[in-house]
Amino acid sequence: MAFVITSPCSFEKSAECVEVCPVDAIYSGNEMYYIDPDICIDCAACEPICPVQAIYAEEDVPEKEKEYIEKNRDFF
Ligand code: SF4
Repeated sequence: MAFVITSPCSFEKSAECVEVCPVDAIYSGNEMYYIDPDICIDCAACEPICPVQAIYAEEDVPEKEKEYIEKNRDFF
């Protein structure tokens, strides 16, 4: 399992999640941030500090955001 960044991130470039991640699993893309599922250690530190609630544990990603599980993985 890993944490996943979803669509609300697209236009909100807060970098708080990047700063809080202890293993540097969060990278900036052209339109949003992405979490490398192979690096994420599921610490959950990023989830509560996201100002637009874009970050979910993989198993908690809402149905309409599930494509972002692949999008995060495909970025790496
Ligand atoms: Fe980084 Fe922890 Fe968020 Fe995974 S859950 S991306 S390790 S801050």
